[in-house]
Amino acid sequence: MKIGCPTEIKPQEYRVGLTPNAALEAIGRGHEVIVQAGAGVGAGFEDDAYQAAGARIVDTAEAVFVEAEMIVKVKEPQSAERKMLREGQVLFTYLHLAPDPDQTRDLMQSGATCIAYETVTDRNGGLPLLAPMSEVAGRLAPQMGAWTLQKANGGRGVLMGGVPGVRPANVVIIGGGVVGTAAARVATGMGANVTVLDRSLPRLSYLDDVFMGRLTTQFSDRGAIEELLPRADMIVGAVLVPGAAAPKLISRAQLGLMNHGATLVDVAIDQGGCFETSKATTHQDPVYEVDGVMHYCVANMPGAVARTSTIALGNATMPFMLAIADKGWKQACADDPHLKAGLNVHAGRLTYAAVGEALGIDS
Ligand code: NAD
Repeated sequence: MKIGCPTEIKPQEYRVGLTPNAALEAIGRGHEVIVQAGAGVGAGFEDDAYQAAGARIVDTAEAVFVEAEMIVKVKEPQSAERKMLREGQVLFTYLHLAPDPDQTRDLMQSGATCIAYETVTDRNGGLPLLAPMSEVAGRLAPQMGAWTLQKANGGRGVLMGGVPGVRPANVVIIGGGVVGTAAARVATGMGANVTVLDRSLPRLSYLDDVFMGRLTTQFSDRGAIEELLPRADMIVGAVLVPGAAAPKLISRAQLGLMNHGATLVDVAIDQGGCFETSKATTHQDPVYEVDGVMHYCVANMPGAVARTSTIALGNATMPFMLAIADKGWKQACADDPHLKAGLNVHAGRLTYAAVGEALGIDS
């Protein structure tokens, strides 16, 4: 199969859909890989790394879209890219169609077969192509929160690990799933005093087991959060209620219980945020203050570490990408119900019920 990888054109997107290693694997199995010049530069992969793997570099996105039978990307196709998709072509990327009727309409009109990373499943009921980005965002959250806690950045002037004779920072993580666990790992590693709240007792039990006394777990309810607010230096919002907007777990009035310069890191901002005062920010201007409390609410945190994120995403997508290339999408989906769960649009039809329900389109 001819596999194409264009340069991402969404603002501030530095990741790339195919790593040179993924290209090497595909080429080793007899496929052809076509990469747009400069596609990997934002993630630290120069064109010659792809050429060394045996890929062909072309100058324009058009050249990739015209030739390739499968397009592998990171972000949903932008309007100009959607115009280049054609019937019979496979698109494999993040789509997030539910809140995006324009994209859904264009993809249906294109006639292409569109498989969305975010709805591919695994045998444990997880979302294996979302998890790596949650790992990245979770590990980044205490790092960015620690930066925000510095005095010059508006914070309380508290060092995560303290020093001998001075208490470490109190970090509260609300939501102990993939993001929360990754955040707990880094925050405990930095020496902070960490409390994780969740509503799932099995999840709290798991965290209690694996962290072996290095953090405190607590059931997440309003009383527990209010009790922790006056002591917290940093609160990481890491909740997810599948298929719903994030619940608002800290109100504006409750900010008054917090210390001046304490920091909220709302990782759940891509689902609307779990603090009432959260609004999405960018890497250029990531932090703002409300009632003396600092807020870090970047919606695409993994973009800050584009190289790590690209490799992590590529590791997760590669087996699926190779299955589609080896067998064709139809057979690959017939063989693997988890890949089939990623099928969102095919030949002018919406094939994913939840998106259809959200947009009022028959699927
Ligand atoms: P997950 O499903 O692995 O974990 C979510 C956890 O939240 C679960 O353990 C669940 O029990 C818990 N939860 C639900 N309601 C709760 C409540 N009221 N109080 C406490 N815990 C509660 O999800 P995840 O992969 O960890 O993702 C968490 C959030 O991070 C999602 O909103 C996701 O979209 C977001 N995310 C954001 C970025 C970014 O760049 N900003 C990147 C990746 C993920």
